Amino acid sequence: MTEERSLNFIEEIIEEDLRSGRTRTVHTRFPPEPNGYLHIGHAKSICLNFGLADRYGGLTNLRFDDTNPVTEDTEYVESIKADIRWLGFEWDRECYASDYFDKLYAFAEQLIGKGLAYVDDSSSEEIAAMKGTPTEPGRESPFRNRSVEENLTLFREMRAGRYAEGEKVLRARIDMASPNMHMRDPVMYRIRHVSHHRTRDAWRIYPMYDFAHGQSDSIEGITHSVCTLEFEVHRPLYEWYIEQLGIHPSRQYEFARLNMTYTVMSKRKLLQLVQEGHVDGWDDPRMPTLSGMRRRGYTPLSIRNFCERIGVQRRENIIDVGLLEYCVREDLNRIAERRMVVLDPVKLVITDYPEDHAEELDAENNPEAADQGGRRTLPFGRELWIEREDFMEVPAKKWFRLAPGAMVRLKHAYIVRCEGYTKDEDGRITEIHCTHIPMSRSGSDTSGINVKGTIHWVSVAAALPAEVRLYDRLFRVENPAAEGSFSDFLNPDSLEVVQGAMMEPSLADATPGGLFQFLRKGYFTPDARLSRPGRPVFNRTVGLRDSWAKAVAK
Ligand code: ATP
Ligand code: MG
Repeated sequence: MTEERSLNFIEEIIEEDLRSGRTRTVHTRFPPEPNGYLHIGHAKSICLNFGLADRYGGLTNLRFDDTNPVTEDTEYVESIKADIRWLGFEWDRECYASDYFDKLYAFAEQLIGKGLAYVDDSSSEEIAAMKGTPTEPGRESPFRNRSVEENLTLFREMRAGRYAEGEKVLRARIDMASPNMHMRDPVMYRIRHVSHHRTRDAWRIYPMYDFAHGQSDSIEGITHSVCTLEFEVHRPLYEWYIEQLGIHPSRQYEFARLNMTYTVMSKRKLLQLVQEGHVDGWDDPRMPTLSGMRRRGYTPLSIRNFCERIGVQRRENIIDVGLLEYCVREDLNRIAERRMVVLDPVKLVITDYPEDHAEELDAENNPEAADQGGRRTLPFGRELWIEREDFMEVPAKKWFRLAPGAMVRLKHAYIVRCEGYTKDEDGRITEIHCTHIPMSRSGSDTSGINVKGTIHWVSVAAALPAEVRLYDRLFRVENPAAEGSFSDFLNPDSLEVVQGAMMEPSLADATPGGLFQFLRKGYFTPDARLSRPGRPVFNRTVGLRDSWAKAVAK
């Protein structure tokens, strides 16, 4: 697939770097902060970073950017690793920014020694007040001209835990008049009397993102450090630290983050959805997380294909979630086994079918697969469940399903004709009566009759009850993040639990990971949390309707 399209702008840069000899290899990294579960936006970054290394015979490190002990946790580390492997990628080295705390500390002392860093006693409010604005220069801190010795002593005391949080910070000594606010003496280290999920209580000071990221890239020999656009303004600082320290010159490149309609994407917002109970966890099937998508039945290939299709841009945009759903259908159509499940059952009785008779009908599992995905048998008898919506007492125009006097084919079985029906006091249909055409059996149909409608069914005698969960978009508006309080825009109907569905008996054995198409109803998978042996609960992955096929074909 990668061979057919033109190069994206990062690939162009890499090819130029390889041609000019700036680099001989390609080494990328994926650097998540372990403060939440991965979402589809991260998948874009993963596919890009691992994809670049793959394409140019290079390597990709997994680096946990764990410099903020307050929000990070090993639960997240484990989920991130599982999600990357599930997507289909394997990293070269598993690294942690916290592995470099000693080196980073030494780098900081090196900068102090060169007069390029100083300990500032100003409060964070004072530092903010002295920062200036994008149009006005900042003011220099009264502590900016401390001697190297004094700075070293104070910084060592900070490390030793002599000071309270917020009492002192270490800042780079760059330029308070720089037009780039990030260059106005940025903070390098702050005091945090907090235990870290890996280094425990070894440290009382922690480096800021900017002082850790570029140096970590450099230590690992990363050649192309790919990140999202919001870091473009950090790039001069990234380069300044590397240059002043004289270390391996990694380079940073920025691309547009993925935004998608009808969802929110930042981990902070997703955490809020979990904490406020709007969803039942990070892996709720409505979440844009990889764990949610896995639980919902999305396949790794469909997500990789989606990331390939959206490409890599330099400008922010918002992708229609319909494109992702298109990619999911495209993959599932190929691999999902077909089954029959009636979501809203009403009884159909074949009055001319003997009561003591039953048949085992033959059905292929997947007409799209070369071997048809194997075959199964379907129990058939006098009484069947069909979908209530497949019958109309007074048929509309162009109604090809069941109605008094009308004929339809029962999938994999016979053509039947509706001879009558019964209703209860409330006017609700209770039973539909049909006769069948014995010569019309699928596979050996000699009836010569053509009918326009085919409906699915399940034998009453063999059917098993099932719970089926239908999902809709989590939000009512296309771009909830653009609105003030996004939780006001939640879709109250994003989950519909169908209790009384009837499924064909072969589905009793379905286990999480199984991918099915319920004929005419969409793609479904057993829920990994709610299913019990012999009693699967199904999630609808995606419906069958496909508004994207045309758009993509154009
Ligand atoms: P969030 O705002 O969701 O917390 P983040 O950028 O803080 O995202 P990180 O764990 O720091 O999350 O991200 C790891 C990598 O994934 C970074 O390189 C980041 O740029 C990238 N990334 C995060 N979100 C997206 C997105 N929506 N599209 C593309 N890449 C993303
Ligand atoms: Mg982040």
